[in-house]
Amino acid sequence: MNISGKTKVVGIFGYPVEHSLSPRMHNAAYKALGLDYCYVPFSVKKEGLESAVKSIRDLNMAGVNVTAPHKEGVIPYLDKLSPSASLLRAVNTIVNEQGTLVGHNTDAPGYVAGLQRELSDTKIKESQALILGGGGAARAVAAGLASAGIKKIIFSVRTPKKIEAWSNSINERFPHTIFGISFLEGEKFQKLLNESDILINALPIPLIDKAEKWLVDLSSITENTFFSDLRYAPHNNEFLSLGISKGCRTQDGLPMLLEQGIISFKLFTGINPPKNVMENAIKAS
Ligand code: NAP
Repeated sequence: MNISGKTKVVGIFGYPVEHSLSPRMHNAAYKALGLDYCYVPFSVKKEGLESAVKSIRDLNMAGVNVTAPHKEGVIPYLDKLSPSASLLRAVNTIVNEQGTLVGHNTDAPGYVAGLQRELSDTKIKESQALILGGGGAARAVAAGLASAGIKKIIFSVRTPKKIEAWSNSINERFPHTIFGISFLEGEKFQKLLNESDILINALPIPLIDKAEKWLVDLSSITENTFFSDLRYAPHNNEFLSLGISKGCRTQDGLPMLLEQGIISFKLFTGINPPKNVMENAIKAS
């Protein structure tokens, strides 16, 4: 990497951020295209978030990605939001448009692009998805699936009240999709598991403890269900291993990571990145 006075700086804000594969993925594509850009991880605590966002403008950075726990927290410090970021109340990409900081959300289209590698558009449209969790990633996935025309989405959560208002508002935006909410346990949950075509794990925690006890009872799943985990490390985690043992098809979070990164790259540089270079960079991790 040949850093000069002309090098454009891009980065990622998160806390922690050390685990992020985004620097590896973006820098590999800059190198392959000979672009004078450099992508840097920034460990940003909550109390430093406002000044960190302002520094995007002050330091004339091209933009940043935003990861947990700041996807919502950055919003008050931005000048504009894309329609998708506004709907989701979550930003994972900030672009510095000549001093105007614009927040985007590339997680929603990124998830769908990843899923389309495995399932046809028709299959997605006809599906019933059960999403474990109701946080930022769960909402992005739901918005992406609804815009892809999916039939039904159920959020299974431990605190239904937290997602109710958002679920109603997204239903107004996507009236063709049926939205529902259930607890992560009980008879209704088992019935939903049994009916689901796509089971998406958007919980940020291990689903099994050291004594091999499952946090969520997934025993009613059938072999027809597609298992999708948003976590990308380790690749063969407990959730995907259960899916494989039941004869189900599975996908980890790497395709979503890659596809959201591709869309962000285009927003930062105006150029389509070489997908295979970015994919090889994260697979080598
Ligand atoms: P988040 O906003 O912190 O949401 C967490 C959700 O999990 C909330 O609904 C929370 O419920 C629930 N939860 C947490 N602990 C729980 C427990 N012990 N029992 C039951 N529910 C629990 O996280 P996020 O940003 O949505 O991220 C979720 C996952 O997606 C993470 O693993 C993240 O790494 C991954 N992700 C991957 C990509 C990718 O590109 N592959 C992109 C984004 C995110 P409460 O609201 O009740 O606390």
